[in-house]
Amino acid sequence: MTETVDIQKREEEDKRLIIAAYRNLLRTLDGKMDDSDKKNIRKAYELAVDAHKKQRRKSGEPYVLHPIEVARITVDEVGLGPTAVICALLHDVVEDTEVTLDDIREKFGDKVALIVDGLTKLDASYNADSPQAENFKKVLTTLVEDVRVVLIKMSDRLHNMRTLGSMPRHKQLKIAAETSYIYAPLAHRLGLYSFKTEFQDLCMKITEPDTYYSVSKKLQETKKSREQYIEEFIAPLRSELDEIGVPYRILGRPKSIYSIWNKIKTKKVPFEEIYDLFAVRIIIDVPPKKEKSFCWMVYSTITDIYRPIPERLKDWVTTPKANGYESLHTTIIGPKGRYVEVQIRSERMDEISEKGFAAHWKYKGVNGQPDVFDTWLDSVRDILENGNENATEFINDFKTNLFSEEVYVYTPNGDMKVLPKGATALDFAFSIHTDIGYHATAIKVNKKLVPMGHTLENGDQISVTTNRSQKPSESWLKMVVTGKARSKIRSAMKEERRRQGSFGKELLQRKFNNMKVDFDSAVEALVKFFNYPNHADLYFAVAMEEINLISTLKKFKVETGKLVQIVEEKKEEERKVPVKGSRVLKRFSGTPKLLIGGESSEQYEYSFATCCKPVLGDDIFAYITATAGMKIHRANCANAEHLMANYGYRILKAEWVSGANSEFTAELIITGVDDGPGVIQKLTRQINDLDINIRSFNISGNEGYFEAKVGLFVTNTDQLTLAVKSLQNLDNVSTVIREEV
Ligand code: MN
Repeated sequence: MTETVDIQKREEEDKRLIIAAYRNLLRTLDGKMDDSDKKNIRKAYELAVDAHKKQRRKSGEPYVLHPIEVARITVDEVGLGPTAVICALLHDVVEDTEVTLDDIREKFGDKVALIVDGLTKLDASYNADSPQAENFKKVLTTLVEDVRVVLIKMSDRLHNMRTLGSMPRHKQLKIAAETSYIYAPLAHRLGLYSFKTEFQDLCMKITEPDTYYSVSKKLQETKKSREQYIEEFIAPLRSELDEIGVPYRILGRPKSIYSIWNKIKTKKVPFEEIYDLFAVRIIIDVPPKKEKSFCWMVYSTITDIYRPIPERLKDWVTTPKANGYESLHTTIIGPKGRYVEVQIRSERMDEISEKGFAAHWKYKGVNGQPDVFDTWLDSVRDILENGNENATEFINDFKTNLFSEEVYVYTPNGDMKVLPKGATALDFAFSIHTDIGYHATAIKVNKKLVPMGHTLENGDQISVTTNRSQKPSESWLKMVVTGKARSKIRSAMKEERRRQGSFGKELLQRKFNNMKVDFDSAVEALVKFFNYPNHADLYFAVAMEEINLISTLKKFKVETGKLVQIVEEKKEEERKVPVKGSRVLKRFSGTPKLLIGGESSEQYEYSFATCCKPVLGDDIFAYITATAGMKIHRANCANAEHLMANYGYRILKAEWVSGANSEFTAELIITGVDDGPGVIQKLTRQINDLDINIRSFNISGNEGYFEAKVGLFVTNTDQLTLAVKSLQNLDNVSTVIREEV
């Protein structure tokens, strides 16, 4: 009896939660829907509630709260409209429930069905444990079909990341790796800066929880004093800005935890010494035609009061970034001599920078600028169409091309071309036209002849001389970075191979004819003998005389018109990845015991990765390499993201069981003030006092500062932490960081 009451109570509670979430969604949509939108959204909501009624999330809450929240994000945080809301509400039903795509098409029409189908396909690929590069290609293919698919997928990912807490640790790590490998850069590229920042912060919270919480705590503690500083900074500006006579807002925003931590790591300064923890943003409300001149007027007002640092001036108002970002940035020296980054922009620019793609479309055609996203989508299509079958190569092309910063260069007529940073003279030739690339013989940059692999810089003017008899060679691949040039060169090489191959094939045909053996079976036999992946490779090798046909054929005899290999004793020399059950001698005594994939590590031969040098107590995972057996990495190893994203199927969960008798090596990077010859002694004494042995010691000094790299033998992370703290206590030491490669 009480049980049914409980169930009833729970059902009522669920219902209340679901209705509240739905009302919240409608509130954000207020004013964006007409009557038919309202009806359709209601219909989608009811379908989702019904379809997911038996499912719960890992956290225990009713599953349907997830699609409702994803829908809210697409409206509130991406800026999409009713169609996207309907698709977001339905994004998991085809995948997880009995509702079919046909049902959806019937009820909501072709457009919604198309988008939901895209989302379902994306999801299916994720469950299949396939390599990340494959998944990424799918994401991009749907992107060029309808951008909303990817924008909804981003919202889905954001909600999943925000609610990752109830997932098991190894799943959290995998999802975080995938997010920072694909979704954060994609968000950046689509101009969704707030998504990118939140993705990075949430990933850091998972991979480096201690650092994350310590930085966020420090940010909290310094909030008051930062706010006071911004007030102090703004005060003298106000009356001057008022005089310009346009409405404006001033915001002082702290930077993201991730970007602060990045600064601590790369600049090797402690938190307390990072002064540009925040950026001041001045947003003016002016019509599009006056944006540029007013932005510069504000710039001039500010720099009348504070001294600017000229190298830090970035003018993305005149030339927007390739992802659509427009803003005028400068860094000035504010009160107390601190650096303050100032961003000046219009309301329109601000909306674009916050909401990227969606907002950009709203303002399409403003200021008569070419649509940067259309241009970008064209290049995505280009890479997808000309792309190679090798997904990993594809993703590398993609990451260097479409996520990177850009250089602006000019044709002899003064037309501007935008290329990714690092692009070469030859890349430029291919960007003008494939034929110009193919036949490029000489390239001049600013009227001077340069090698084809010459790296371009902003403002370069380039002219290309062509010759019909010129053609690409293998070595050209090393002289380009853009995906377009690479894929064009590769396909030219393939064509060349095919042409050469047909010579090889003819040669074999003559040979086998003379020997009176069947052509097809003989080719098959040789391909197998050399272990070529296909026939074309054999033909090519024959044409290029890479193999000696005469001596090879001596290893065969002819039997009833077929080539038969003369059997020899063949030695098996294949190296295999160690498998469970193989017994291998331990390299040193006191090997720590681990739990790998839920089983005792005694069944495995493993070693510690030298890139991140795990220490007992670190968060770790196991990775099965192709040739070097199993390696144990730290969860926050710099390589982890790449490994998890690309080779997720080779990753096993790993945990420490015991390792009390083992010794680990760890490296610390210590920076500080070089106060004389006693520095080395001070550091070593501090370490020896803790009974820790030093394995290596390197120190270099420069203008009163030193940087030391110290290798330690420690037994666990507690001991390591103790060493870090104790070194930090020395008054000439400013930072102590565990080395990450
Ligand atoms: Mn989902």
